[in-house]
Amino acid sequence: MADDYHKLLKRQIRKHLNGNSEIVSKYEGFLSAVNLTYFQTDEERELIERSLDISSRELLAKNAEIETMIALFPDAIIRIKRTGEIIEFHEPVIREEFLYPEDIVGSYIQDSFGDFIGKKYKEAIDELGKTNKLVTIEYWIEQNDKRFYFEARLQVIGQKQILVVIRNFTDHIRTMEALRRSEQRYALSAAGANDGLWDWDLINGSIYFSSRWKAMLGYEETELRNSIEEWYRRIHPHHKERFKKAVRSHQEGSTPHLEIEYQMQHKNGSYIWVLTRGLAVSDSMGNMYRMAGSQTDITRQKIVEEQLRHDALHDRLTALPNRALFMNRLENCIERAKRNKDFLFAILFIDLDRFKVVNDSLGHLIGDELLVKVSHKLKQSIRAVDTVARLGGDEFIVLLDGIKDAAEASHICERILKTIAEPVMIGGQDIYITASIGITLNTELRQKPEDMLRDADTAMYRAKNEGKAHHQLFDEKMHQWAMDRLHLETDLRRAVDKMEFEVYYQPIVDLHSNKVIRMEALLRWQHPERGLVYPMDFIPLAEETGLIIPIGEWVLDKVCRQSRQWQKGGFEGVDIAVNFSARQFEQGGLPELIQDVIAKTGVEAFTLEIEITESIAMKNIEHSIRTLSELKELGMKIAIDDFGVGYSSFGCLKFFPIDHLKIDRTFIRDIPDNKDSKAITRAMISLTHALDLHVVAEGVETAEQLAFLKDNGCDSVQGYFFAKPMPVSEATKFLEDFGGESKKGG
Ligand code: C2E
Ligand code: MG
Ligand code: MG
Repeated sequence: MADDYHKLLKRQIRKHLNGNSEIVSKYEGFLSAVNLTYFQTDEERELIERSLDISSRELLAKNAEIETMIALFPDAIIRIKRTGEIIEFHEPVIREEFLYPEDIVGSYIQDSFGDFIGKKYKEAIDELGKTNKLVTIEYWIEQNDKRFYFEARLQVIGQKQILVVIRNFTDHIRTMEALRRSEQRYALSAAGANDGLWDWDLINGSIYFSSRWKAMLGYEETELRNSIEEWYRRIHPHHKERFKKAVRSHQEGSTPHLEIEYQMQHKNGSYIWVLTRGLAVSDSMGNMYRMAGSQTDITRQKIVEEQLRHDALHDRLTALPNRALFMNRLENCIERAKRNKDFLFAILFIDLDRFKVVNDSLGHLIGDELLVKVSHKLKQSIRAVDTVARLGGDEFIVLLDGIKDAAEASHICERILKTIAEPVMIGGQDIYITASIGITLNTELRQKPEDMLRDADTAMYRAKNEGKAHHQLFDEKMHQWAMDRLHLETDLRRAVDKMEFEVYYQPIVDLHSNKVIRMEALLRWQHPERGLVYPMDFIPLAEETGLIIPIGEWVLDKVCRQSRQWQKGGFEGVDIAVNFSARQFEQGGLPELIQDVIAKTGVEAFTLEIEITESIAMKNIEHSIRTLSELKELGMKIAIDDFGVGYSSFGCLKFFPIDHLKIDRTFIRDIPDNKDSKAITRAMISLTHALDLHVVAEGVETAEQLAFLKDNGCDSVQGYFFAKPMPVSEATKFLEDFGGESKKGG
């Protein structure tokens, strides 16, 4: 800084003074100027006094050595008369000469630097006239949008002259400002965030740590020496080099400031995360002499960040990797397979069977718990190098990172299926679930992870379609099959446009009166090429795509008209039952829709019955009770379909305003051979009666089944034993032939 210049100059001048008396005389003039301002000892002052009268303009200006010295002195030296007239002017060679007007000699100093500065000089000259003491003024000049700061010192020399030394303080001011700014910044952040402060003297190497800095690491104010080593040795071994490098690159000027996050060891041995910020300060020569900054404890923030990072890549419920992380690992595998032709890996796409039923009937909490348990089972079934991820819902996916052959993948699938099939105990009850798995290997020429995933999904879908609870390896035929599904969707949309549907009817026979009391309306799709398509093959797709809504309205309209015709045609005792799927039932406004159709078709509401499955009814019990009550108010009857396959309890049923319970076909199917099915059926009949409901048995195919049901007091039956679902003409003929009375029932 400025003082360094003085020292340097002093040293040089002294050298000359001591070494050579001849030079002394030569330099007297110049020395007088310099000493006057900066030399403080009596000896020096004496010299100044003596030199004042001998100083000569020529001596100063023409001596080359003096020129050199002046050049070393970065400021301007001006000799003026007491009036302010400039008699001599030396400007620095390397400094901003442009700041001084040209041909300044002969002009008045008060006029040379503009009005504002001129006024200051004038005042200074006046002051000197009064006191004869050194006068200092400060000012700045703006040039090219930059501000340059100057300090001018004026002193009388001889009787008639004044020596002016102008110093450029710009660098110093800028440095001070930067330092002040940084200090302010750190003082501020320290107050706000409870930061620790540090201040490192780069000249003598000592460092100051604030008490907060120490406290952060568990130390008392009196602990730790003022040495940078105290800092370095507490930095986590993995971060030490990075830290030193950051400090170095800031000191070398590669970074505008120091800012680094790393771990430091606390006194108690644990590691905390800290953020260190700092700024190095240089003097006007560019020498760094100090570095100071703050230290913040960011451990908590790091934990939150870590959590967020984890959350972004993991499933919240099961904590398994999520799709994003899985895809990333899959990509790595694909890359590896490109480099190494022998590297074989596989994807297993796992979907739980009938998970929806569990979720809907037992509630989401139990459903969630089941998913967590399944995720544990999956993790236990694979190796550490493999990845199991949750894609969402009840879909899981496994990446088998390196396998021998397809058989190995198949073997792992069997193991997975076996553990999943073991019951899990949740909330005091055993829950049984199975899964379907699709496998795909990287043998096909697929480069994209999405394609592999799609194929595994297709294979899984296939496994599901083939009866669930098993696994299936993807092959090209499956791709075709998936394409077919896509075509089916296109076809279904067209079918809705053209209403290529037909309603079939299947009789339900009352076992007390032996009469057909109801016809169940069952939908068929008359596909132009494929012929008759059954609900199982298109209702799920219609549900998925929402096409079930227009289809359902069409069915309802058809059914109402048919009911009116049969009522008019003399079959007064025959109602019609119509099925509703989840989407239709959940969509608001079902009672209103039915009311509209009833009004439009003129049908009597009491001749209609709606069937919803047990799992739909249990999904949102409140909504079910409300909707069913409204339908009931319209005068309709209500049946719970496919009873016994879900998880609902009889206890729940009493809240529903229902009339009939339909025992699912799967129980009837195994009668009379299966003891369990018989026992369950018997129990369901008596429990239904206990609730004052009528019970209908579905899927009665044999005389034995009928006899068993009759013996056990079943109210009515439906099944191939009486009739298959029939088109309306046949159904009408059936009613005519049997006059609403079943011969077989008797
Ligand atoms: P669901 O309501 O339980 O209908 C009874 C199913 O059992 C019918 O199958 C019927 O043909 C079949 N079935 C009846 N008796 C026997 C028998 O003795 N043996 C055997 N093996 N099967 C028998 P379908 O017509 O294929 O209908 C399947 C399901 O599609 C229905 O089950 C119902 O849930 C749904 N569905 C049918 N029509 C409609 C509709 O218009 N709208 C909605 N949303 N779903 C419908
Ligand atoms: Mg039904
Ligand atoms: Mg059924």
